[in-house]
Amino acid sequence: MVRLRFAPSPTGYLHVGGLRTALFCWFYVCQHAGKFIFRLEDTDQKRLVDGAENDLIRMLEWAGIELNESPEIGGDYGPYRQSERLEIYKQHVQKLLDEDHAYHCFCSTERLDNLRNEQRSKGDTPRYDGFCRNLDKKESSLRVTSGESHVVRMRIPEIPETLVLNDLIRGSVSIETSQTEDQVIVKSDGFPTYHLAVVVDDHLMQITHVVRGEEWLPSFPKHLLLYRYFGWNPPEFAHLPLILNPDRTKLSKRQGDVAVEDFRDQGYLPETLVNFISLLGWSPAEDRELFTLSELVQEFSFERVNKSGAVFDREKLNWMNQQYIQNLDHDDLFRRLHPFLVKTPFAEQDASLLKKAVNILQPRLVTLAEIGNRLSLFFEENLQATDPDVLSLLREDNSKQVLAEFIKQLEAVEILTEENFGSVVKNVQNTTNFKGKNLWLPLRYAITLEAQGPDLKLIVDLFGKEKCVRLARRALEL
Ligand code: GLU
Repeated sequence: MVRLRFAPSPTGYLHVGGLRTALFCWFYVCQHAGKFIFRLEDTDQKRLVDGAENDLIRMLEWAGIELNESPEIGGDYGPYRQSERLEIYKQHVQKLLDEDHAYHCFCSTERLDNLRNEQRSKGDTPRYDGFCRNLDKKESSLRVTSGESHVVRMRIPEIPETLVLNDLIRGSVSIETSQTEDQVIVKSDGFPTYHLAVVVDDHLMQITHVVRGEEWLPSFPKHLLLYRYFGWNPPEFAHLPLILNPDRTKLSKRQGDVAVEDFRDQGYLPETLVNFISLLGWSPAEDRELFTLSELVQEFSFERVNKSGAVFDREKLNWMNQQYIQNLDHDDLFRRLHPFLVKTPFAEQDASLLKKAVNILQPRLVTLAEIGNRLSLFFEENLQATDPDVLSLLREDNSKQVLAEFIKQLEAVEILTEENFGSVVKNVQNTTNFKGKNLWLPLRYAITLEAQGPDLKLIVDLFGKEKCVRLARRALEL
């Protein structure tokens, strides 16, 4: 049975890189009718954020990912929060200590700082020098029981060797054990570090595939050694490429949004974000961009994940969101806009008018959150022209002629609709002899005060005759 886990730390939000890891895991789980496990890696007591676990799980749900085991759901391999598994780690660490694969280290932070500085100044890579590696075991035990502050370190073999990992994405990767150090596996607060907890939990939870970010690749020798010390078979590994800013630095909060909830709040659809993020580092066999969730589940494979970093291209994300919004049916779009509409001054407008306006705006909407600004065209009575090009064109004599004639023609018709707007404009053309841009731009600018916007005949249909007369008069007075 295939079992994969998503194991975030509760640091406050779901990072888009985390969502990608969760998606790839989940696609694989779905393909193999396996199980998907959520495990909270909350052993870093300094970095806990209230409510983070709940936020993480809610965001996975928002993306459409289904979990089979988690702190909320439970399961046969719990507890699913590392902070509730301390007793389990303790037993495992004791085994390592008993078998001499780990030892107590009493070095003070001060000593370690000095050591690091000294090594750096000589141009060496900072690493633990093994000061406590060969302490007498009895003496160490006494110091521990007397309450002296200490950590536990795992022992890297004295005789260097090459460890090889068969990564599902990178193929065979080898690292010399001499490049790693005696890693701390239990901190002075008694909590395990990531390295110990991840190995123990992945084994006990019977995880078959560990999928995680490339930043963990250098840690694999420590993990492989721990598997060996415990006498366990390691799972399969897949290390995903980094997600990059356009300048190819690692995607960071400083250069923009990285939290999935930010994208949700800005009005990106979950299907957009899932589609977009899945294409960060994975290339489908077919040359196309738009994939539904179930298509992604079908198409995904680790073999087609790249080794090199993937650039997070905001313009592509916007394009994609626009595509998805265009393809929503009107009612679905209206329903999804609700949380955004209630934050606008137009929430109380007549629902059928609002719906009409939304339908007109739909083809041009890039995000749901834009709806407030876009709706002001329809419902803001005192819209001000801000575009200098619009203003200067409306002040030209030619424009004024067109608009004066437009008012005349409007007064001659009973009502103004999408159907007769064309003939009204035709009459303006025949009387003034203006056509093309000279005819249409003054009309569009006068009615919308913007250089670009939705189809004009749809807008005038919604406005009706009286309002269009009023707007044309306003423009004449600019
Ligand atoms: N807690 C680790 C993180 O958030 C998990 C890494 C892993 O999946 O092993 O990056």
